[in-house]
Amino acid sequence: MERIEKYAELLVRTGINLQENQILVINSPIECADFARTVTEKAYDAGAREVIIRWIDEKLSKIRFKRAKNEVFDEFPEWVKVMLEGYAEKGAAFLSIAASDPELMKDVDPKKMSRQNKAMAQGLELYRTRLMSNQNVWCVASIPTEAWALKVFPDVEKDLSVEKLWDAIYKAVRVDEDDPVKAWHDHQKQLNRRLSFLNGHRFHALHYKNGKGTDVTLQLPEDHVWVGGGDRGPHGAIFFANMPTEEVFTMPKADGVDGTIKSSMPLNYNGNLIEEFSFTFRNGTVVDFDAKNGKEILRELLDTDAGAKRLGEVALVPYDSPISNQNILFYNTLFDENASCHFALGKAYPSCIKGGDALSKKELEEKGANDSLTHVDFMVGTEDLEILGIKEDGSKIPIFNKGNFIDL
Ligand code: ZN
Ligand code: ZN
Repeated sequence: MERIEKYAELLVRTGINLQENQILVINSPIECADFARTVTEKAYDAGAREVIIRWIDEKLSKIRFKRAKNEVFDEFPEWVKVMLEGYAEKGAAFLSIAASDPELMKDVDPKKMSRQNKAMAQGLELYRTRLMSNQNVWCVASIPTEAWALKVFPDVEKDLSVEKLWDAIYKAVRVDEDDPVKAWHDHQKQLNRRLSFLNGHRFHALHYKNGKGTDVTLQLPEDHVWVGGGDRGPHGAIFFANMPTEEVFTMPKADGVDGTIKSSMPLNYNGNLIEEFSFTFRNGTVVDFDAKNGKEILRELLDTDAGAKRLGEVALVPYDSPISNQNILFYNTLFDENASCHFALGKAYPSCIKGGDALSKKELEEKGANDSLTHVDFMVGTEDLEILGIKEDGSKIPIFNKGNFIDL
């Protein structure tokens, strides 16, 4: 079988873990149409009832940002909400192909983009909540597009850059291995070792420190749970919400973050790059921030709502991992976040609280979970990052030394 078919099959059978008679909804950029068709074939072969495609055309979005009437950016079409919620209620699986041009939107008014994002997040709040609490299975994966590949490999010809990005992706998602399904199974076992260490210690707080200037303490909610790799969908089958995924993660206490965090990689946020940025937190909230590039974009992100100024995710990824060892800056969060320890501003995953998928918004908040219309990961891992786990009685146990897990 060709690698591209192997990959499409891996996404359907291991990523989504599509069940007999299940509906699959694919969100795909138009540039990735051929691949979306291959996935569709594999999905029908795996027993899909129906495969629905929602095409994304970011160049068209840009034309709209530049030329449409100002008021449309506060609107979100009801039919998209009806479509996605309707399929979600029917138990559909959702596959999204993330392959945006990292800098397409750089001359678009950031205010328009943030208004549009907010309208979309409000329109799709129920749908997003269903996915974030695993009431529907979902998977985010990527394939190269020309614009993206040229940003990652600017010094080679277009065709070669696309080929190189395919190679990097295949390596990251273990399609290069003889038996990718088994490789994912083995990978899960290693993640499970880390999870049992972290869940076993029931840390009260984490302290991060590195030479870049990150020096921050994050309290963890009493009922926090570390998760990673596969999740259980509503019918008990394991699916992988991200492919690749190298992280184990939980949520910090919404009001329990204090100190300074310095980014370690640029962040591609909605077709804009934010570079060399930092935050100061007091009692969980950003009280100061800066960025060498994209400060206004960052300001718009933080101003989304009150929860956008707080953290909703803390994720551990060793500096020595299959993705970071490729030494490629992907300008795509799906890959960059899996090459580096990261945090996310915004909404916390309910599954990071014991029994959290069944709790109401209010109950989650009482347990210390942050809520927001947004959830944006940003990278902080460096080769000298030290992380200490602090237990209830004040004793300290090293978790990370020189950028990597201690003995795990
Ligand atoms: Zn993450
Ligand atoms: Zn995240």
